[in-house]
Amino acid sequence: MKLYYEQDADLGLLKGKTVAIIGYGSQGHAHALNLKESGVKVIVGLNQGNPDMKKAEAAGLTVKVNHQAAKEADIIMILVPDQIQSSVYHDDIEPNLQPGNALAFAHGFNIHYNQIIPPENIDVIMIAPKGPGHLVRRQYESGNGVPALIAIYQNATGKARELALAYAKGIGGTRAGVIETSFKEETETDLFGEQAVLCGGLSELIRAGFNTLVEAGYQPEMAYFECIHEVKLIVDLIYEGGLGGMYYSVSDTAEYGGLVKGPVIIGEQAKAGMKKLLQDIQDGSFATEWILENKANGPKFNRYRQLLKNDPIEKIGAELRKMMSWLKK
Ligand code: NAD
Ligand code: MG
Repeated sequence: MKLYYEQDADLGLLKGKTVAIIGYGSQGHAHALNLKESGVKVIVGLNQGNPDMKKAEAAGLTVKVNHQAAKEADIIMILVPDQIQSSVYHDDIEPNLQPGNALAFAHGFNIHYNQIIPPENIDVIMIAPKGPGHLVRRQYESGNGVPALIAIYQNATGKARELALAYAKGIGGTRAGVIETSFKEETETDLFGEQAVLCGGLSELIRAGFNTLVEAGYQPEMAYFECIHEVKLIVDLIYEGGLGGMYYSVSDTAEYGGLVKGPVIIGEQAKAGMKKLLQDIQDGSFATEWILENKANGPKFNRYRQLLKNDPIEKIGAELRKMMSWLKK
């Protein structure tokens, strides 16, 4: 696997070009401000009346409505929520694409699942920082960067890879290291990671642990500390030193219990569930489900959000966190 760093990327490729950043949220504000400070000409594109227009203007950026920004730009980075990218593309961007332009993404969903089918005469690239936008901005300001992925879906100009690398440099990515992937690999591993491990698997592990203790008559506050609060301490250790580093730091009792009893919880059944999730991601079933859910205005999504809000673990947690003065509001 090749890693790209500062010397592998040439910001000169963006000289004389205009980059439109469509959307000014988590990723959008970071890309727009970092590129601008890297000497790139940036226009922020937003829909008429979007409250983020004021924010972007206050930050000293040029702001236009989507179609105008797309028209004036050579490189158009789409950073609106994934569920609305297809309609924004069809209404505002597609009619304003010129041969040789580049369409850019920070996540491959809409290209990989054919919600956006770009014309053949443009470059289609991805530059995806592996971190939230606020970190991308903060790291850049302190002279560092967040690692990023790049991918090339279409290389009409023959310069798509160099362009993606130049963009990655402009947002600070090459300061930390850039890896090349494909739209397919990024999309499928991203969806799998968030469902099976990060957002889905971990949350359910926490909930099941908390509920098991509470149902057995233990104080919910104790269950909260054991099953939620301490997750951070363990994850920090894993982040710094891998699983081995974590096991080195905990007691021998915890190490033995973890190594021997962990597989009792995450065994063959969990693995089978993960394979099913991966299959649904690969064959497009999950994408179809999510696209239709949005078309129907989110009936299931809203119900699950409501259920979580009313879950005792959230109520207890909110009370306990109020006393943790070190957590910033
Ligand atoms: P976000 O929800 O934080 O921001 C979306 C922005 O789009 C907001 O400024 C919103 O006002 C604007 N917007 C809404 N409707 C619009 C319209 N019709 N026209 C123009 N602008 C509109 O989104 P985000 O989390 O920054 O995600 C953007 C992209 O980046 C997605 O593809 C996402 O998968 C990807 N990504 C996000 C992260 C992350 O940490 N948030 C990390 C990597 C990649
Ligand atoms: Mg992700």
